[in-house]
Parts: sequence; structure tokens; C-alpha cells
Amino acid sequence: MNEYVRPDIAKMQGYVPGEQPQHAKFIKLNTNENPFPPSPKVIEAIRRVPGERLARYPDPLADAFRQVASDRLGVPADWILCGNGSDDILTICTRTFVGAGECVRFPYPSYILYRTLAEIQGARWEEVPFEEGWRLPRSFGEPSSDLKLVYLPNPNSPSGTWVERDQILELAERLPCPLIVDEAYADFAGDTCVSLVKQCEKILVVRTLSKSYALAGLRFGYVVAQPQMIAELAKVKDSYNCDLLSIVGATAALSDSRWFEENLLRVTANRRTLERELDELGMQVVPSRANFVWCTHPEHEAKALYEGLKERGILVRYMDFPGWGDGLRISVGTESQQEVLLGMMAELLSGR
Ligand SMILES: *Cc1c(COP(=O)(O)O)cnc(C)c1O
Repeated sequence: MNEYVRPDIAKMQGYVPGEQPQHAKFIKLNTNENPFPPSPKVIEAIRRVPGERLARYPDPLADAFRQVASDRLGVPADWILCGNGSDDILTICTRTFVGAGECVRFPYPSYILYRTLAEIQGARWEEVPFEEGWRLPRSFGEPSSDLKLVYLPNPNSPSGTWVERDQILELAERLPCPLIVDEAYADFAGDTCVSLVKQCEKILVVRTLSKSYALAGLRFGYVVAQPQMIAELAKVKDSYNCDLLSIVGATAALSDSRWFEENLLRVTANRRTLERELDELGMQVVPSRANFVWCTHPEHEAKALYEGLKERGILVRYMDFPGWGDGLRISVGTESQQEVLLGMMAELLSGR
């Protein structure tokens, strides 16, 4: 133990992101990035930024982005707060709502970062296991006195499953605290809970440009909530949490709806292919509303499949959830990436 460090920090493990090899030429299907490049308008907009603009601080609230997002989402601009990726937004929310020793709740298995955020905050956490068929148990909405924040990824990761809007509204109404609906993958589901924000001040919808806009490297996310909530979150964020280039790029991305629609069609078509072909290979695949699939095999160990694929130059995400089980989370790729993956998978499963 490092004697200088807060005990909460010294005893935590730290979030371990999926492997991000910077040089080796892997087919990378392990962290749910978009397999296609972003809209060319993003690069054009960033190139047009005059050098002297970089000498100045960026707009603290990213109003240019908020305007475009406001038009797209049908909520006023002051219902939106921007962040350095949605992970930044999740951090801001945790710091705003949860004090040391208080409690957060999230489903299990889901996004592992929620637990890390609780640990950093010195908070306690409750992991509520999904029921059969990836349904939320009634206990997920049970009030308790020191519960201060609930996170719900929708679609969920790693399962790719979706919880219906009515159920989310009912959940928020029962809860004594804010409910964060983490919509990192909602575009791929063709649905969103943004409209619920108008009906319930406890609902905060968190979104990112990392997945459906192919901008994981740009770092831009935002939250939609009622303005009295946004005003409190704004006090907690770093003054300049979004840099100038990311604001310019994100604004251009949201303005190019044609690129967005085409990309969405292509990714969801590839998802259907991936699901069907993995199923034909004998994998058990959870029907996905996201840009990845969760799968297991009745006989083959998921870990061995992961390692076999890695040896063959393909990275997928092996995940082991104690008390739940393990499996592979495979991101949707390009047509040719998926062909290579499926070929290698067939080879591994036939023991060649
Ligand atoms: C990828 C992901 C995020 C984080 O996205 P960034 O905007 O890149 O920080 C948030 N939540 C879930 C569930 C994700 O899978």
C-alpha cells in the first residue's frame, strides 16, 4: 500500500480498458468502435480551424454543438451538457450526485466503469444481476435510503439487449435518485429515451459520438437532462472539458445526417450477418440491438476461442463475470473483417 494515497484509491484495481494495440496489425473487434471512418466533413471542419484559434480557450459549454444537438433531439440547448467522451459525463454525474459512503446501483453484468467510478468516489455499489433473458428484476427499482445514483446502459454491454422505454420511466419514478440511461449504443437500436427526460427530471440520458459517429478517438459525449440538473452538473465539470478541435469535429459530425444514416444501415446489416453466421457455426448468440454481439459456445471454452483468434490476428473481447459466466463480445466489423473472423472461428471450432 502506498502510504500517501487515499486508502480507497490504493486498494482499487483501476479500470482496465480493452486492449488497444498501437502498432500490431490486428483485426480489431474488441472495443466496439465503428469499423468505418467518420464523415469526411469532420476532418474538413477540423482542417479549417485557423491556427490562432488554438491560442484561445475553447467555448466552455460548446454552444455550437449544443445548438445542432438541440435541433436534432428536439430539446432546448440548455438541456445539454458536453463532455470529453461520455466517460467524462459519467464521472461528472457521479461526482455531482454521490457522496463518500453513499450508494450507487447498476445491473450485472454491465459496463465495468460504473464500479470504478464508485470506488474513486469512495461510494458503495450494488450490482443487481439480470434475470433470465437479460430482464431487469423488480428489485432494480427498489428505493433505499442512501441510494444516490443508478446507471443503466441501454442497450446493455456486453449483452446488446434493450430495456423498453415504459419500463425505464416506471423505474425512474420508483427510484429515490437520478437514473442515468447510458445510450452509448442506442443509435444502433433505432430507439432512445431522450423524450423521457421531459417527463421525469430524474432521468439523464448520456450519449457519445464514439460508436455511432465513428469518433472514439475524438472524445466527445453529452448528457440530456432538465436544465436545473444540467446547471448543477456544469458546476462540477472541468472549465474546458472539451477541446476546440473536438467541439468543431463533433458539431460537423452531428450536422452530416446523410453519413449517419448510411453508416447505421451498413453496421446493422453487418450485425445481422454476424449474428446469423455465428449461429450457423453453433455459437449461442444473444440477439443484439447494438454494434456487437455476445456469444458463447456449448462446448468450446470462450477463453480458448479468444486466444485462438488472437494468435490468428483477430482481437475480440473475452469477458469473465464472476458468478455469471464468461463469453465473447465481438464488435461488428467491415464485411471483409467479418469474413476473416468467421473463417478463423470455423477453423477453431472444427479443431483444425
Ligand atoms: C463505449 C462506452 C461508453 C464510453 O464512451 P466514450 O464516449 O468513448 O467515453 C460509455 N458507456 C458504455 C456502456 C460504453 O460501452
